[in-house]
Amino acid sequence: MNRQMMQEILEKIKQHQKIVISRHWRPDGDAVGSTKGLQRILQLTFPEKQILLINEDYASYLSFLGTEECQIEEKDYSDALSIILDTATAKRVSNSLFTKAQEIIKIDHHIEVEQYGTLNWVEENCSSASQMIVMFYLSFRDQLKIDTTGATYLYTGMVTDSGRFKFNETDGETLRCAAAMLDLGVDIQTLYAHLYLTSMETLKFKSKVLGEFKLSPNGVAYTYVSLDLQKELGITNEDASLSVSFLETIKDSLIWLAFIECPDSTIRVRLRSRFVTINQVAEHFNGGGHAFASGATVHSTEEMQALVSQADQVLGEYKNTHEGWL
Ligand code: AMP
Repeated sequence: MNRQMMQEILEKIKQHQKIVISRHWRPDGDAVGSTKGLQRILQLTFPEKQILLINEDYASYLSFLGTEECQIEEKDYSDALSIILDTATAKRVSNSLFTKAQEIIKIDHHIEVEQYGTLNWVEENCSSASQMIVMFYLSFRDQLKIDTTGATYLYTGMVTDSGRFKFNETDGETLRCAAAMLDLGVDIQTLYAHLYLTSMETLKFKSKVLGEFKLSPNGVAYTYVSLDLQKELGITNEDASLSVSFLETIKDSLIWLAFIECPDSTIRVRLRSRFVTINQVAEHFNGGGHAFASGATVHSTEEMQALVSQADQVLGEYKNTHEGWL
């Protein structure tokens, strides 16, 4: 925990009247939870300041957390402090104007590849950006305010990005931060109902993926979800992207991938792994992310095959040189 950095961030927040908070494209629970959680803390603590959440895309499956409002004009950024959460590189920020701000703070837990902020607070081993905001809140709890709504946003980010507290980065600090949010009255039954109950369409889609996924020679499990299949099953592109989680519990498949055809004809790749790192494969294909959870984009069947081959090679090397995995 970087106390000095957190202190500097708090000072910058105090110095600015207008604060614009943004996150990455294609938001997940952590991107939305951390930004809305920070906004809530700052609104409660500094009611006289303008605390804006500005993003250019939206995830409808997270709409139960409420809206992410407004745009402002380019000229209105000149005196603003921009705080970007959960986003490794400037080009992934879902706000094309954020660089117009007077100062920029990056708060992130992805592998560090670019320092685009005036201040850059990066904790690569932290399970979520939401956890970083909880740590920030707890460090200055004598000065900052939060309520049940804010705690619910942050808990949502923590529980989703840690895969319900089972991914590698989950440690004692993660659970202490989660406990602090639960103590504020988060309704986990309602939250889990929003996050984890599935529609019949999704269930049918899951059975299709489980019936048809492929395995590479060394055990990489992968599925391709074409636009035709999405249309046939009546599912959205967002629903289709869930397919990666359907493949996560196969004993021999330490790497699993989902290729999702998108309306613009690109193919979104979601890469997941246990024990063996996968981000280096994502980086070869215009992507990046975390050691065990990354994303990339490919444009053809050939590129898909090339990515599967690379992942297969990584998995083969791992299995040849390690013992003890299941
Ligand atoms: P996803 O499969 O989209 O949930 O992505 C997994 C992780 O990788 C998330 O933390 C994303 O922020 C990150 N990620 C996804 N796509 C990219 C990309 N093209 N470049 C860098 N990081 C990415």
